[in-house]
Amino acid sequence: MSRITMDIEGKTYPARYEICDKCAGTGKGYLGNRGFVLTHEDFEEDPDLRDEILNGDYDQPCIQCDGDGKIKVPSTDEGWRALAEEDEDEDDAEGRRERQFEAGCAGDKEWYNIR
Ligand SMILES: [Zn+2]
Repeated sequence: MSRITMDIEGKTYPARYEICDKCAGTGKGYLGNRGFVLTHEDFEEDPDLRDEILNGDYDQPCIQCDGDGKIKVPSTDEGWRALAEEDEDEDDAEGRRERQFEAGCAGDKEWYNIR
């Protein structure tokens, strides 16, 4: 088996595969995964619908693993920390943009001082 790695913020960390917890490794999603809700009327209007769903006609690839049934995760604490930092960076960038936007709308020229 070749060594599994994943790149986080330009650095390569050892990684491993885990069974996707969203689909329990089947790689399949279902309509509910995408926020689609069927009502009683849907079943009444289409008598075959229940069979079709049970048949897997409406199965979609899992939204978390994209049908792989497995997800790549860091296998070291270092990797997890890097991953957490990467997430934080994204949150920060997003938050800064929002603050700048709000300050800009308010006509506040001191937006760059806001932290
Ligand atoms: Zn999955």
